[in-house]
Amino acid sequence: MKTRSLGLLFVVAVIVPSILLAVLSIRSAGREEAYMEKQAAATLDAEVIHAAGLASAEVGRVQDDLRAGLDLPAGADYARILTRWKASSPLVAVPFLLSSRYGILWPPPGGAGSEQRQFLQENGDFLGDRAATTVLQNIAVRYQAEILAQAENAAPAGLAAPARADEEAHGSPARSRAMRARAGGAPAAGQSGPQPPSAERQSAQAGAPAESEAPVPSSSTAPGPAAASAPVTRAAPAAEKQMAIDTFAQNPAVQTRVYEESRQKGDQLSARNVAPKMLPSPVAADTSATLDAVGASGGGGTAVAAGSTAPAPAAPLPRPAPLPRPAPPSQFVRTSQLLSQIASRGEYGIIPRFIGEKLVFLFWERLKDGRIAGCQVADAAFRSRIAGVLESTWTPVRILTLLDENGSPLAAPPDSEGRDWRRPFVAREIGESLPRWEAAAYLTQPDSITSQARSSSLVIWVLVMILFVSVAGGGTMVLSSVYAGIRTAQQKATFVTNVSHELKTPLTSISLFVDLLRRKGPLAPAKRDQYLSLMASETERLTRLINNVLDFSRDKGSRRYAMRSVDAAEVAAQIVESQRVRLEGKGFELTLHPAAGDPAANPGGHPAPGVRADPEAIKQVLLNLLSNAEKYSKDRREIDVEVARDAASVTLTVSDRGIGVPEKERERIFREFYRVDDSLASGVQGTGLGLSIARRIARDHGGDVTCEARPGGGSRFIVRLPAVTGEDGE
Ligand code: ADP
Repeated sequence: MKTRSLGLLFVVAVIVPSILLAVLSIRSAGREEAYMEKQAAATLDAEVIHAAGLASAEVGRVQDDLRAGLDLPAGADYARILTRWKASSPLVAVPFLLSSRYGILWPPPGGAGSEQRQFLQENGDFLGDRAATTVLQNIAVRYQAEILAQAENAAPAGLAAPARADEEAHGSPARSRAMRARAGGAPAAGQSGPQPPSAERQSAQAGAPAESEAPVPSSSTAPGPAAASAPVTRAAPAAEKQMAIDTFAQNPAVQTRVYEESRQKGDQLSARNVAPKMLPSPVAADTSATLDAVGASGGGGTAVAAGSTAPAPAAPLPRPAPLPRPAPPSQFVRTSQLLSQIASRGEYGIIPRFIGEKLVFLFWERLKDGRIAGCQVADAAFRSRIAGVLESTWTPVRILTLLDENGSPLAAPPDSEGRDWRRPFVAREIGESLPRWEAAAYLTQPDSITSQARSSSLVIWVLVMILFVSVAGGGTMVLSSVYAGIRTAQQKATFVTNVSHELKTPLTSISLFVDLLRRKGPLAPAKRDQYLSLMASETERLTRLINNVLDFSRDKGSRRYAMRSVDAAEVAAQIVESQRVRLEGKGFELTLHPAAGDPAANPGGHPAPGVRADPEAIKQVLLNLLSNAEKYSKDRREIDVEVARDAASVTLTVSDRGIGVPEKERERIFREFYRVDDSLASGVQGTGLGLSIARRIARDHGGDVTCEARPGGGSRFIVRLPAVTGEDGE
């Protein structure tokens, strides 16, 4: 019971805590990689946002440069001016001029060369305001009213007023209320993941003049939220638009709701070119898959080729090749707009147009007299201007680049062939003016984070293993030594009881015989001799017991032996004779082989069974064995003592016909205090010391004691001692 509760204590106090500790460390090792990736993503995301801001700003500068080069007063020779404009700026590919009613004044009808002809073919209907084109709109701007209404729930009163005014203006309070009801928590509360510094965010989202000044729809052909949001943008300060963009960027809950709203409205989201490994905000991957699918199917059905005659939805943007994993949803919604709609919203801008798979950029500016002048921007010059904004495209740690509408990098390190550009580490869309373009960052060695994390988790594993082995090993050692201590304490307690009992038995016999000798007066000499030899025998047993206890209490190996050459047969005969009267009195048949003087004592002409020994110690061994033979015999009371020698050793064998020793116990019985049956019910008293002391003495003499089964029943104990050779004797 005591040992069991000790084991339980060990499990509760040591094993369970160390298993918990190990599980915790292994779990944290597993998170190491995710944590390191998150850290890298946060840093790279800030760079990506900055790069996107730079690219957008460059689009603005391109417009400024184009405007600066174009001076077309009313009544001037526009053909000459436009030709000169083209010649003076590498950015101008094909200039054009429209009347205030969208009549094409330049290039001349049919075009003057193949370039102009193709330009008119591709853009004629759009410039003539007969066909719409696809433009992108930031989803946060499109759902600005709803986003601000949500923010009103959690933000201080300042936000509430414009949001409500906006709601009333568009007559859609129900939807706003519904979104507000669904909005729940504070927009900023659920924020997690990397966030760029706000200045950078500002530049990424608002840095492009094209975005703030040019195409935002306000047409009757794009009903619903698009129509609703346009006046807001016009009426509300730009700060509100930015607030909606920021709220959207920072709040995953708002994103989820806006995307859901957008999906229900059947909006067509732009499709992204990349599937970044790390998402800047926790937009669920499954949401993105759904949105992607909506965008795909919604686009196909309503497609009308560019160049058709009536105002109609424009051709869908070309679909990118399928990505290796679901791309996150785009932040841009596609709408169809006529040039008149776009131009009504500003004074100048750049309109990106997909002509089949090709993306062309049309610059336009409204002149003072109402005409619209502009050009198709020269592709190579435009791209190299944008590519020029990146200072360091690659470092030993990362590659930072801009991807065009096909997902191809504008700048790439020389040894980056074979890299999958569509799987950046982090990426962000650049903006409305550069549809499907992305700023993207890649790890130069994608495995470095994994291998760093692996090696640190390997260290944790090894430490956990060492912890485990030391806890288990140390614990087991402590436990087993505690168990051994408990066992020894128990055995010692039993030993004291047993010793006192064993000492009493011969003492009682001796005092009985002393009494007899005293009281009976003169006795027959034979009787007296018998009593005396019984007393001597009991005294010898008593001495043996005391010697055993003394031997036990001595340190191992400290007993001093009075060694000399002795004849083992003689020692055996002395012991047998000293015990004979007592044993025969108890009904034992005690035989010594060979009997003294028997020629068989020396078979094969060996010299006498001489050993070098302390005769008192050898007597103690034989007495212990004889005492056991007596104690563990029942009905068949035969004891045989045999002395034999061969070339190397002398053996003294004590055999009985007693209860025998089971095979598995034949070694254990030589341990200190070990008894096969220590119960009182066994009826045999003992200390468990006799055999251990016998073996110790025999081994101190260079021999041993062993036990084996005696054929025909009983057991046999063999004492083997090294024989004295002729030379030893001398
Ligand atoms: P004990 O004082 O118990 O006899 P020993 O060390 O002399 O101690 O013996 C150890 C155990 O070996 C005994 O308790 C007994 O179970 C077993 N044993 C010893 N001698 C014999 C024998 N001759 N026959 C059967 N069992 C024996």
